[in-house]
Amino acid sequence: MEVILSSPRGFCAGVVRSIEVVDICLQKFGPPVYVKHQIVHNPHVVADLERKGAITVENVDEVPEGALVVFSAHGSPPEDFALAKERGLRVIDAVCPLVTRVHNEAKKYHREGKKVLLVGHRGHQEVRGTMGQVEMTLIADDSDAQLPDWDADESVAVLTQTTLSITDTARAIDTIKDRFYNAVVRNDVCYATTNRQEAVTYMAGLVELVLVIGAENSSNCNRLREVAEAQGVPSYLINGPEEINPNWIKDKKKVGITSGASTPEVLVESVIEALAPEKVIMLEGVEEDVEFTLPKELR
Ligand code: SF4
Repeated sequence: MEVILSSPRGFCAGVVRSIEVVDICLQKFGPPVYVKHQIVHNPHVVADLERKGAITVENVDEVPEGALVVFSAHGSPPEDFALAKERGLRVIDAVCPLVTRVHNEAKKYHREGKKVLLVGHRGHQEVRGTMGQVEMTLIADDSDAQLPDWDADESVAVLTQTTLSITDTARAIDTIKDRFYNAVVRNDVCYATTNRQEAVTYMAGLVELVLVIGAENSSNCNRLREVAEAQGVPSYLINGPEEINPNWIKDKKKVGITSGASTPEVLVESVIEALAPEKVIMLEGVEEDVEFTLPKELR
């Protein structure tokens, strides 16, 4: 068997930064450091930080009064900051700057009097954070998207979640533009999501099976699996080697591997080791040199 590795894959700049924020807090202030929501959607990363003294909670009111809390990479609504203030918490926000950019755009369009539409997945943490910024309407990123019953000439601004499928997002945007001809559109699907999806699309054409390494609750990992499958190749999302079903790989000569923006490379390595291929081929891909500065409190 040959393993073909998609490139780029794995950690993006936003994930590297948010993990670094928790690590630096642990070193600088000592444990425990509370983290609101999984710092990134990967149980391996979360467990690693928890071993060092991080404590993950889901809600701000679970953090003891006066404690230090890091808010996750996905972004948080203003009510979380307000509650933290009420409880005397020290907050360090590890939100990805590309998510903050979406928040700022939402506020700007709202100030300008536009009605804001957000294309995204209901219930995802990033959507919760963005929806909290100003009044806005969520539009599902699928073909059955229900649009609001507004006049066709309504002044509308369209934002998107950062980790959607690039093709589904383009389709949803077209539907919105057909309906509201004045719509101002920002496609916020980030560079990392775009690069990983384009790379897996190419790789899927070369292999008989695609394994996406990452967590079930990771939006960008799920989209990678869907994008690969849309190329007509069986594709599975797995956390690690223990989830490989031997029937998937039976008689396969070429297996493609990629990983989401929150997946550590060590998990990719362990899957390759479990497959024990005769050859590993790394595809060439877009070079990524994006880096984000740390939050001001840690600089
Ligand atoms: S996937 Fe994109 S938006 Fe999300 S943390 Fe990474 S760079 Fe930021």
